[in-house]
Amino acid sequence: MSKMIKRIVSGCLVICMLAALSSATTVFARMVAYGSEKAGYLVSTKQIRKKTNTYDDSSLNKAYKSYMTYGAKVWKDCGIMTMKRDKSSVNKVLAYNLKDTSVTAHAITTPNYATGHIESFKIEFNTRRLDKLPASFNKIVAAHEIGHTLGLLDLYEKRNKVQLMYGGVGPLADKPTAKDIKGAKYATRK
Ligand SMILES: [Zn+2]
Repeated sequence: MSKMIKRIVSGCLVICMLAALSSATTVFARMVAYGSEKAGYLVSTKQIRKKTNTYDDSSLNKAYKSYMTYGAKVWKDCGIMTMKRDKSSVNKVLAYNLKDTSVTAHAITTPNYATGHIESFKIEFNTRRLDKLPASFNKIVAAHEIGHTLGLLDLYEKRNKVQLMYGGVGPLADKPTAKDIKGAKYATRK
């Protein structure tokens, strides 16, 4: 199963996302403000810089909502971010059906143009792919995508296969590791 798992980098412009969708192996230039592959975390120039947030996943079915519940919980449990459901949230979590089943999900973040900090996000789950995968994996996908909404970027070097934010092919941590947390602490600092 894991051989099939690919993700695309979050936080890119829409045009980059479309380019990435056309090639699951695309790794495009990432604006890194902090960290490195060697450090085990990469923090984008766009960061959330706050400790609580909301999301609206009211259009998702029960299973996908449960994946989001899990993802929110693991980031809360490590003290990084408290995320609450709110139907009026600007942050949207949606299901979509993409023919390219090498894409499992993606997260798009929008900065505040004055501060550069992440102001809103959108997570989309590719149901055509994820419906065929076990809940135990899909929960991890949700946790990974939430990591992007904080400002964390995908890692691709083999040494980082153990991190939640690993974005290539391979096994994944089921919750943020010490290194994911280190990057996330930076991204969510006040
Ligand atoms: Zn990713």
